[in-house]
Amino acid sequence: MKYSIGIDLGGTYIKAGLLAADGKLSCRMVVSTCVDEGARAIATRIAQTIYQIIELAEKEDKKEIVGIGLGAAGLIIADSGVIHFSPNFPGWSDVPLLNYVTEELGGLDLPLYIDNDVNAMVLGELHHGAGVGYENAVGLTLGTGVGGGVVINRKVYHGSWNTAGELGHTVVQPDGRKCGCGNHGCLEAYAGARHIVERTQQQIAEGKKTCLDSGVLTPKQIAEAATAGDELALNIWAETGRYIAVALTSIAHILNPQIAIIGGGIAAAGENLLFQHIREEFTKRTMDIPGGMEIVPAKLGNDAGFVGAAMLVYNN
Ligand SMILES: [Zn+2]
Repeated sequence: MKYSIGIDLGGTYIKAGLLAADGKLSCRMVVSTCVDEGARAIATRIAQTIYQIIELAEKEDKKEIVGIGLGAAGLIIADSGVIHFSPNFPGWSDVPLLNYVTEELGGLDLPLYIDNDVNAMVLGELHHGAGVGYENAVGLTLGTGVGGGVVINRKVYHGSWNTAGELGHTVVQPDGRKCGCGNHGCLEAYAGARHIVERTQQQIAEGKKTCLDSGVLTPKQIAEAATAGDELALNIWAETGRYIAVALTSIAHILNPQIAIIGGGIAAAGENLLFQHIREEFTKRTMDIPGGMEIVPAKLGNDAGFVGAAMLVYNN
């Protein structure tokens, strides 16, 4: 059996694990990222984690490790392993993380690949999660921001300059809400966590009847209120589903993927509040695409990051 090491580099934690070719995870580890200590110190910690996993793997007689993959949020230049920028690492600009980690690994003779975390997530879901059996998939992660990834013929599609797959910045409303990217009306400006809260607060301010308190509000509370039958909250989720469907309609017409996989904390709103609205609106809007496009929740949950990262080894 072949194994690869996957590392999910987040702003708070470095999560890592060993993925077997059959999709089974073992030797999981979580260490603090300690962002403030800078890129070099983080590279050191990543390298230490890699060595610890190799040690654990050897104890369990899992010796045939073929490579290491690392996923991180932001614009990652996969060819060179450079983090152009990352929302998790403010101030980082063109940090050559692959070189740093390689230096820290000393003479370790294993290939190392770095890519965007959502690209990795879609790859992981395609091989071992919600997209098993498919070749072409797109993915969205609905969290603080809305991440995207595209996998074509079972490989991540990077585009000409590594910026492909920014599906969260598909415009769904030309003169709409201001997005963090500088544009107006991006999907992220409607389906990102903060934006869902702000849209709710706006409707409360307009005097719509609700049990929700405008003060401290989270998407989870909005989902709970909706489940309890609160009309404003139900409407917020229906609208959110509609915006996601508008984006997916364009994406389906451009790429014709077999499946769209949707993960992240916001996707936990689930079938009744979110997914059924996405599918309904998507069906209304798309051309009659033979074979259609499945729209499903991600399956790998908290493991998606490092399963995907470990799959980067096979992507290359
Ligand atoms: Zn945007």
